[in-house]
Amino acid sequence: MTHRQAYRYLFGPVPSRRLGLSLGVDLNPVKVCTENCVFCQIGQTTELTLARREWAPTADVIAEFERWRAGGAAADFITLAGSGEPTLHTGFGDVLRHVRGAGKYKTALLSNGSLMWLPEVRRDAAAADVVKVTISAWDEASFQRIHRPAAGLTFEKLMAGARALRNEFAGQLWVEVMLLRGYNDLPEQVRAIAELVRGVRPDAVHLNTVMRPAQAGVPVARVSEARLREVAGFFEPAGEVPEFHGEGQARGTRSDDEWVAWLARHPMELGALAQAEGMSVAELERRLGPLVAAGKVVVGEREGVRMVRVRSVDG
Ligand code: SF4
Repeated sequence: MTHRQAYRYLFGPVPSRRLGLSLGVDLNPVKVCTENCVFCQIGQTTELTLARREWAPTADVIAEFERWRAGGAAADFITLAGSGEPTLHTGFGDVLRHVRGAGKYKTALLSNGSLMWLPEVRRDAAAADVVKVTISAWDEASFQRIHRPAAGLTFEKLMAGARALRNEFAGQLWVEVMLLRGYNDLPEQVRAIAELVRGVRPDAVHLNTVMRPAQAGVPVARVSEARLREVAGFFEPAGEVPEFHGEGQARGTRSDDEWVAWLARHPMELGALAQAEGMSVAELERRLGPLVAAGKVVVGEREGVRMVRVRSVDG
């Protein structure tokens, strides 16, 4: 094997609007989660559970991070995210503390917030610089309908966990609100969600909507950018709305110039970029095809890893 072999737990780094250049760490096999959200972009949850386990050996994850670090690559954030709920992994706090100990990087935990009612999960989450939780429901029935959680997980537990985390966590707490047409987008529903979010006292609220319908086997429709902007003011702090392009597609429809500008900053691994964009590798290759044909972008293989870069980087 070469020194720069493909990674098993790391993906990216990929540019993120909020986190800068973010190296993802995926602690779970596809797809272990506490929920089976109708809007999930990864697909159906295959292991729906509240049972915390060391799904991947923590030592192996840390060793892989060290291998990546030794290679001299750059990132602003190391972000626990990926194929399910990262707090289901019993070693996620050890990973955060290890990365923090490396000194150079900020850390983010992108969680659905469903296990924050457990004190040990909150203690470990507090090792991150940024924690994101999701609140897209306003009562038990809407929580069950949208998130289809594992048995034993209730809306009350989710909210109690989010409030307790805020009381104990001095870092940046972000709340993501996923709005779906016909599920939670009526003004009175959004106001009820906003009221609950206000009680959590987040540092930021990110409004979002589904970009690819029916990935989790349920037809769901996105909310328009106009509607997201209308309701942003219901929240405190005001909800941030993602950048939409064209027909309301926030991701995957960047202009050619935007693609080239991104790729000029950092060559990226094809699969990781596709995942970050919410596309399949084939879709991404189709999208980049004209840029490749025009000689602006190169898709090549480097030590067993398929990389995308702008031509000016490598000539
Ligand atoms: S919590 Fe996240 S990973 Fe889990 S089912 Fe919902 S959207 Fe998918």
